[in-house]
Amino acid sequence: MRKRYRVGHEPPATVSRMIHLHDTASGTVRELALREPGKVGMYVCGPTVYGPPHLGHGRFSLVFDVLRRYLEWTGLEVRYVSNITDIDDHIIDRANREGRTSEDIAVRCEAVWYEAMDAIGVKRPTVDPHATAYVDEMIALVAELVDRGRAYVTSDGVYLSVATVEGYGLLAHQSLEDMRAGGGDRSLVGEEKRSPADFVLWKLAKPGEPFWESPWGAGRPGWHTECVVMSLDLLGEGFDLHGGGQDLAFPHHENERAQAVALGRQFARHWVHNGFVEVGGEKMSKSLGNFTNLLDLIDNVDPRAYRLLVLQSHYRSPLEISKETTDRAERSLAGLDAFARRVAAEVPGRHPADPDVIRRFREAMEDDLDTPAAMALVFDSVRRVNVALDAGDVAAANPIVGAVMTMCEAVGLVLRGGVAEVPSEIAERAAARDAARASKDFARADAIRDELQAEGWIVEDTASGTLVRRS
Ligand SMILES: [Zn+2]
Repeated sequence: MRKRYRVGHEPPATVSRMIHLHDTASGTVRELALREPGKVGMYVCGPTVYGPPHLGHGRFSLVFDVLRRYLEWTGLEVRYVSNITDIDDHIIDRANREGRTSEDIAVRCEAVWYEAMDAIGVKRPTVDPHATAYVDEMIALVAELVDRGRAYVTSDGVYLSVATVEGYGLLAHQSLEDMRAGGGDRSLVGEEKRSPADFVLWKLAKPGEPFWESPWGAGRPGWHTECVVMSLDLLGEGFDLHGGGQDLAFPHHENERAQAVALGRQFARHWVHNGFVEVGGEKMSKSLGNFTNLLDLIDNVDPRAYRLLVLQSHYRSPLEISKETTDRAERSLAGLDAFARRVAAEVPGRHPADPDVIRRFREAMEDDLDTPAAMALVFDSVRRVNVALDAGDVAAANPIVGAVMTMCEAVGLVLRGGVAEVPSEIAERAAARDAARASKDFARADAIRDELQAEGWIVEDTASGTLVRRS
């Protein structure tokens, strides 16, 4: 079985200081104060599965994957919940257009989604709840809102009365009065709606649409109801972090929160939103086709390039995807892979990470996830290793090598072609072989070599010791 590689890099035993992240609700960068020490519960709105993932999906998935991996690397236990919206108007429209069932569309698109996520190295959620499995719970929530006088029934469904929700507009940074003056969300205006900002909790089915029975008639739940029910069910009240693309802050997240507030339940404590993707230039579309589709990107460039681009821009800034930026990322990856190969050949064995570099890495990451600064440190460290090795100073290079490996692992950036692909127990056995040779115990050294070869490793003797690589 292929294991995750770990070459001499131990995560810090204790968390020195908790990460600080921008919180959309307060509009400030503040500490992520955990509900329970050592544990993080995070909910990230997942895809509506009716088509291939686009670049925006890739970005939010990578941003929150980096955050999750980093938190785990610091020793925290992360419960990462991300939903699959498998019932929705888009899915129904496509099903009707193509003469298929909504279920068929959703199942196939979900499979494509996870293939793409695997390709860009996004870890699977701890739990990925499906909307269709939560309909009973959603009906119960809507019924409670109606009972409490927070929601009302119309001829086409059930709506939340946002005027009854204290602090509505927290995430939009706009009061309900301001929204009214601005016209509210006109796409939802129906004659029976009491306010333009009121939103649908339960939508009555039109003929031919999939439906579930409810006290208000056959229909389906609204999207905003889905996420509030699943996040509270799987993470509990007052969970730590709710995330998504910045386009979700309003109205989706605002409306999730409104339902929880209307029921007197504590909702997310910290709101994190990432910036948009800007797809650059004609050059890209001419040479590489429709680049708004994540599958096209994966087919045309090294899938690691997207992670590197995400890492090299701040998560709240716009990210430009263009031929130029992906080319640049691929060149940077080539440099990192060359580093990994050189290290495999010239600096075998264990690489304890340089504590000063790791301290600076953590300072950057914990300052609102400053991944551009963290990546600058990675590339600067690679340069330092190359300078030291050019001068023949393996001892000076070694801890910086360890730091680079550690930082890349913490953000999920896989280096190819070298020591990075050797699991730690294999590296330890190679080191044990060197120790045996140094003490002239050649029988033991040979025995270790034979074992490693039997397990499919190529074992070479180099000037600086045993080199192990995959055959
Ligand atoms: Zn959501």
